[in-house]
Amino acid sequence: MNVHEHQAKEILRAFGAPTPRGFAAFTAEEAVDAAAKLGGSVWVVKAQIHAGGRGKGKFKEPQAGEKGGVRIAKAPEDVGVFAEQMLGRTLVTLQTGEAGRVVKRLYIEEGADIARELYLSALVDREAGRVAFVASDAGGMNIEEVAHDTPERITTVAIDPATGVTDADAAKVAAALKLDGDLAQQCARLLGTLYEAFTKSDMSLLEINPLMVTGDGKLVCLDAKVSLDSNAEFRHPEWEKLRDLGEEDPKEIEASKYDLAYIALDGDIGCMVNGAGLAMATMDIIKLFGAEPANFLDVGGGADQAKVSAAFKIITADPKVKGILINIFGGIMKCDVLAAGVVAAVKEVGLKVPLVVRLEGTNVGEGKRIIAESGLNVINADDLEDAARKIVAAVKR
Ligand code: GDP
Ligand code: MN
Repeated sequence: MNVHEHQAKEILRAFGAPTPRGFAAFTAEEAVDAAAKLGGSVWVVKAQIHAGGRGKGKFKEPQAGEKGGVRIAKAPEDVGVFAEQMLGRTLVTLQTGEAGRVVKRLYIEEGADIARELYLSALVDREAGRVAFVASDAGGMNIEEVAHDTPERITTVAIDPATGVTDADAAKVAAALKLDGDLAQQCARLLGTLYEAFTKSDMSLLEINPLMVTGDGKLVCLDAKVSLDSNAEFRHPEWEKLRDLGEEDPKEIEASKYDLAYIALDGDIGCMVNGAGLAMATMDIIKLFGAEPANFLDVGGGADQAKVSAAFKIITADPKVKGILINIFGGIMKCDVLAAGVVAAVKEVGLKVPLVVRLEGTNVGEGKRIIAESGLNVINADDLEDAARKIVAAVKR
């Protein structure tokens, strides 16, 4: 689950990390109020979307004199003008894809005196089996290019969970960031704080880009991107209010209501499978035969008819889907339950694309009978390879 920059900074602040002061705003009026509350003479108006690259982003149907999704205002009136310009517009960045994201909220922050822009992130390093910090002195808006062209400027330091951030770890990161003296000490403190925030908040990603050095020698988190690990949702009731459904894929929201493991993808073959392993294998074999899956979907072992119906509706509602492959190995999940769920869903929403069904296992005869007697236009398949060939052929026709 992703959260907005202003929420990420609130989390970091709660653990004691230095961030600029700021307020979220949903209207231009609120934005001007925020500037008044902050005081000072420079403000930054930042579009809040669940995607980075806002600074270099472009609005669709650009207006004269307009720059990206991060604007510096030198007068309170300008805060209002920029807010007016950004709210309700579609911002396209390297991370949003062509469709872009509609800006529905802003973050108004006090202006910063930036001396240097550094890069610091924390992630779950699966190879090391540890939380690792990734640091570079070449922070700011071109970090992707740095990673690509000069990977030696990026340092990774994995943290031993038994010790937390050690002096040696902190020294390595400070060296990578080219910080010494008091700034190196601030860096060591910040790493401890961020490590605590990361682990206690069950983050899966924390990216601070830029981490800035101010003109008067302070280390401050100027941007913050946080992903929270949804698997830990049960122990974080406070996450409920952080969720912004407007930023999530509606199909994934619907799937989460039914406790379905669903991930939307870019291909055109909708998949309904039970078991994550079988779902992965099904996606692989679709690719092997030259097509792309439109989704990952594991309906789970003990799915009932309502769950199967919901899953089928989510797949058919996706306009990208040109064909559907159902691949069920009935173990705990019974083939007749699956068949009844699919037939019920088709009766409700119709079937406009080819459907290939491969059933095997418990009550397979009964399942096939239900589908045969339903009068649905279903292509039966005998095994996984046969099923994949048939759906790819049907879609490519
Ligand atoms: P991103 O493009 O979505 O990653 O948004 P950021 O929050 O990282 O902002 C992009 C860039 O705007 C930063 O790298 C800074 O150079 C600049 N920026 C952000 N806040 C301030 C500020 O308070 N003052 C100044 N001068 N520049 C800022
Ligand atoms: Mn940034």
